[in-house]
Amino acid sequence: MIPALMPTYNRADLAFERGEGAWLWTDDGRRFLDFGSGIATASIGHNNPHLVKAIAEQAAKVMHTSNLYRIPQAEKLAARLVAATFADSVFFCNSGAEANEGMIKMIRRYNSETGHPERMRIICFEGAFHGRTLATLAATGNEKYLAGFGPVVEGFDHVPFNNMNAVRNAIGPNTGGIIVEPVQGEGGVRPADLRFLRDLRAACDEHGLLLGLDEVQSGMGRTGKLFAHEWAGIEPDVMSAAKGIGGGFPLGAILAKEKAAKYLVPGTHGTTFGGNPLACAAGNAVLDVILAPGFLESVDRKGRYLWNEFSKVAADFPQVFSDVRGAGLLLGIKCVLPQGEVQAACIAEGLLAITAGDNVLRLAPPLVLTDDDCAEAVRMLRRAAQRCQPSGAKAAAK
Ligand SMILES: *Cc1c(COP(=O)(O)O)cnc(C)c1O
Repeated sequence: MIPALMPTYNRADLAFERGEGAWLWTDDGRRFLDFGSGIATASIGHNNPHLVKAIAEQAAKVMHTSNLYRIPQAEKLAARLVAATFADSVFFCNSGAEANEGMIKMIRRYNSETGHPERMRIICFEGAFHGRTLATLAATGNEKYLAGFGPVVEGFDHVPFNNMNAVRNAIGPNTGGIIVEPVQGEGGVRPADLRFLRDLRAACDEHGLLLGLDEVQSGMGRTGKLFAHEWAGIEPDVMSAAKGIGGGFPLGAILAKEKAAKYLVPGTHGTTFGGNPLACAAGNAVLDVILAPGFLESVDRKGRYLWNEFSKVAADFPQVFSDVRGAGLLLGIKCVLPQGEVQAACIAEGLLAITAGDNVLRLAPPLVLTDDDCAEAVRMLRRAAQRCQPSGAKAAAK
């Protein structure tokens, strides 16, 4: 008989009762170092006192009023995001897919309102992940996720990632924009070349296209900048954010330049829950932590440490791992063994790692993890590699 909780996931047999910082405890008292962060979402750690207090205080006042009224918490969060980024204006929603839907609508609407209704197509990339709604699935373009859900939403053209010739060839009279992840997360923790991002910006300027960035996973401090595109020194026209933005509370956002945002006038787009007082209180608390002096530098420093140490582990266990990739605290280790086997060995050693496409083990800890947590993760990963490496190779391991 089908479980009451619809079985859309192959869940690990673990249930967590409480957390603190980068650590989680099961109801039977086992402790795990959380290098998944609920899929790069619990950005400022579990049970973060500042976030807990902000949510509790706001919940005791008013949680939800709807967008029929002013929401001071949302106005404040939007103003802070505008001050800290390329954006002139922000729309709040509840998830990454919803933010991407809005971004797609904004790109289409912009072209339609500026005299180019024929420019309804958007260029996306192989290996992308943009969400599970019908339009974001079409933007994702992954056959595995699309199977059985046709007809596929029209208007998305896919080209190889990091390949500027392919992009140039794909731009046609019906192209209205490009959507790209600065670091492909689900697809295998694959960073875009900084040069590629700059070339995309230039191509969009040359052809009058909007550049849309999906920073749902790479944003909110994950790579050591507030948003990953800052490493390339470019600005998008529109960008989606979610995952880490609420620190575990569901919140998403579309950030946009005025030129793209101004056509979403009243009546064109909306949401019941999006940007409610509770969600935005959480968002403001997260931003307090991430924008504190020295915080992003600490993410960068910890990311570099883990990159170096994970690279050493990978080099010591060539029958388990090949290369390390990623940016900041969004790291991937390409596996030689099946990723599921390596993930299971990590969990057996107390390290919660997640997986990504391309047989990659994905490591995305809370951004607040300590230096001791980093060192502990490296020890656990080494033991996990020992545990799962094929027998006969053991002598080679240090
Ligand atoms: C997770 C993710 C999404 C989808 O976000 P949901 O909140 O699950 O809808 C979209 N884009 C990227 C890059 C993501 O990592």
